[in-house]
Amino acid sequence: MFGAIFDERIKNLKERNLHRVVRDRESPQGRVIGIEGRTYCNFSSNDYLGLAHDERLTAAAVKALKDFGCGAGSSRLLSGGTCLHGELERAVARFKRRDDGLLFNSGYAVNIGVLPALALSGDVIFSDELNHASIIDGCRLSKARIYVYRHNDMEHLDSLLGSSSGGVKVVATESVFSMDGDVANLKELFKICKKHEALLYLDDAHATGVLGQGRGSVEHFGLAPDDFLIQMGTFSKALGSMGGFVAASGQIVDYLRNSARTFIYTTALPASVVAASLAALSIIEAGTELVCTLRDNSIQFREMLKRIGGNSEVGGETPIIPVVFSSVEETLQVAGRLWNEGIYAPAIRPPTVTMPRLRISLTALHTKEDLTLLASVLAGNGPAKEVSQCP
Ligand SMILES: *Cc1c(COP(=O)(O)O)cnc(C)c1O
Repeated sequence: MFGAIFDERIKNLKERNLHRVVRDRESPQGRVIGIEGRTYCNFSSNDYLGLAHDERLTAAAVKALKDFGCGAGSSRLLSGGTCLHGELERAVARFKRRDDGLLFNSGYAVNIGVLPALALSGDVIFSDELNHASIIDGCRLSKARIYVYRHNDMEHLDSLLGSSSGGVKVVATESVFSMDGDVANLKELFKICKKHEALLYLDDAHATGVLGQGRGSVEHFGLAPDDFLIQMGTFSKALGSMGGFVAASGQIVDYLRNSARTFIYTTALPASVVAASLAALSIIEAGTELVCTLRDNSIQFREMLKRIGGNSEVGGETPIIPVVFSSVEETLQVAGRLWNEGIYAPAIRPPTVTMPRLRISLTALHTKEDLTLLASVLAGNGPAKEVSQCP
């Protein structure tokens, strides 16, 4: 009975080149991945430091698996947590230089749980127009009024805040934007939020492990965290594990522990995953070698792109580098050419983004040869002669 309706919807997606398929790996996440029997040099993961398959993380996870078993069995507010959960919350608070931390099962769960808990009916959320889907969904779940400000436009934000009245005000933004790789104007955001007595809800998903010696955007800008600041992040990207976190004042964390529905009404993360996250944090705290390699790769590849005249907006130092095209068809064509050359850099299309693009995602594992190969294929030259193709 429903067959025809969903056939029609799928057909519609296919006609607009927006129908997607899942491609699963036969290998660990990494610089080279195996898909459907072939290997690809991988520019599609957020495993920026290459920690997802790091022996130190897997060893920690295996030990916790043996000590605590597989499933957590219940939510944190019942008996789901282990001593490792509390240890990770203290570790993440220290890492972000805040009073306290709170664990969630994913970054997505943080954004859809925390925003509705912070901003109730009568309150207001100000959201950057390019914010991640999980922030948008958090706004939708909140009973607050929502204002969307133009991307990184601080004057627009300032004027919207100035004309709003009453209630709790929350400014929600990513620090490193996930599809463009640009960085929010954090100094100005701090000033504006202080001026209007607004909370700043900062999504550091792509800055944690990447900017500020790995500690994130606040450290990168040399700013001092204050009570108005609520930072979220995820263990699933540069930290190579899984789970989301909030780092904030003790009062805010205590409030969220008692009000964020995605913290309360879900089973806790397994201890093995928590142990892997702990290992990742201690690797970054112990030394910045991986973070520096990532930064060098990002700057080098942006220079290469500039030289081939690809993209005018390639300044900066984050490992997310969009190569934007005017049509979905052209984007898919270039992605196909890369795929044939053994390079995986997938096309990102609407509705994820407005402008279709290849989202190049660099990691600390990429070699200079990998970057040169990608740049030369993007330039339309095919692999340069002197460069050996990825295995
Ligand atoms: C990936 C991402 C999230 C969600 O994090 P997960 O741990 O993958 O659920 C939240 N915000 C931004 C900006 C992201 O890119």
